[in-house]
Amino acid sequence: MDDLRSKLFYEQKNGYDLIGTEERLALEDYAKDYMAFLNNSRTEREAVIKAVEMAEERGFIPFVPGMDLEPGMKVYKNNRGKALLLAVIGKRPLSEGGVIAGAHVDAPRLDLKQVTMYESDELCYFKTHYYGGIKKYQWVTIPLELHGVVALKNGELAEITIGREPDEPRFVITDLLPHLAQDQMKKTMAEGITGEGLNILIGSTPYADDGKDRVKLAVMSLLNDMYGITEEDFLSAELTAVPAFDVCEIGLDRSLIGGYGHDDRVCAFAELKAIFDVEAPEKTCVCILADKEEIGSEGVTGMQSAAFDTFMEDLCAVQGVELRRCLENSFCLSADVTNAFDPIYPEVSEKRSDSKINYGMALCKFTGARGKSGTSDASAEVVGYLRGLYAREGVVWQMAELGKVDQGGGGTIAKFMANRNIDTIDAGVPVLSMHAPFEVVAKFDCYMTYKGVLAAYRDNK
Ligand code: MN
Ligand code: MN
Repeated sequence: MDDLRSKLFYEQKNGYDLIGTEERLALEDYAKDYMAFLNNSRTEREAVIKAVEMAEERGFIPFVPGMDLEPGMKVYKNNRGKALLLAVIGKRPLSEGGVIAGAHVDAPRLDLKQVTMYESDELCYFKTHYYGGIKKYQWVTIPLELHGVVALKNGELAEITIGREPDEPRFVITDLLPHLAQDQMKKTMAEGITGEGLNILIGSTPYADDGKDRVKLAVMSLLNDMYGITEEDFLSAELTAVPAFDVCEIGLDRSLIGGYGHDDRVCAFAELKAIFDVEAPEKTCVCILADKEEIGSEGVTGMQSAAFDTFMEDLCAVQGVELRRCLENSFCLSADVTNAFDPIYPEVSEKRSDSKINYGMALCKFTGARGKSGTSDASAEVVGYLRGLYAREGVVWQMAELGKVDQGGGGTIAKFMANRNIDTIDAGVPVLSMHAPFEVVAKFDCYMTYKGVLAAYRDNK
């Protein structure tokens, strides 16, 4: 009878029961590289800089429209320093389509407002406007660091990073002491900390004169000494406060990784590593690191932008192929994280369908909300194709759904790829505490996601 059960029933196994010593070692090496990448990629701009650096070391060159493209050639297009497209040219023509993997490198954070600096009661602050879906109460009383650029009137760009190095100062948003918080504590978690209350403490020493705003003047003088900027320059700045936690191993067994921005740099890294490892593919492989996913994939650097189509059309033009032919024959893994089942909060999940830590790359047929609203809902054929491929290639994977029906929902870049007439499915790493300042993933799932993307790139279906 047990034989019949194992033959007929779908049963999931913990990933560690499915791999040998060799893969255990491989996933540790992989995790080390990923942790180093994440630690130094605190914004989309930094992730792109790091990715370009890694790509150039491996022979990728900037793509120039009209250039000759031989099979095996590696090219990239940097989209305004905030998004990146990489391709390894395949042996087969682009009319047969490409294999695309798309992740995003933006993450929830606190952007500084354009008119950001103020002094109140002899303390100086930056006002912020949060970016992406955050639980505001999580962003107070944690160390923050400052990253970004200031575009000066003369066309130059001042790059600012304060707080990443151990000896640099950090910043913080204060919260009420419990002794005086009885009114605050009666509020809901959504209301206890407000958007306009997310003001970052940046200084307290007064400038030595008897004018007004002496602390602000002292802080502005420091910034002027360091970067040559004035308060007006903030109007054309993109500065953001991100958690100042270092990426680290979590758990006595060191099986997990804690850090800021796993969503979705964990999949971005998997794609990068995979496209670096693919040699002379049959079909052209494309790796997308998109921006603005957390706010709906809008804008010139988001996945709704024509930047992707322009890049693909330029590649196609070299081979005299129509873009629409290429896209309709392409396949896309929308590589994005999903929620991992959390035993502390089982009430929001339907255990059979939510992804689990250490069960491998999570394929999400549909995201969306309510009656699958706002999802591209990958076809059975697409899932079937990956089942076959991953069985052949030893990729440990699981099915994923975003919590209980009617509990909430979400989206990724998948629908914007599918709307382009590309067969697309979400696939990525399960995350605990997603969108928190400090998220947790499993090394095993990170490694399997890399293997899953690589298998798709290498397949010659
Ligand atoms: Mn994401
Ligand atoms: Mn997200």
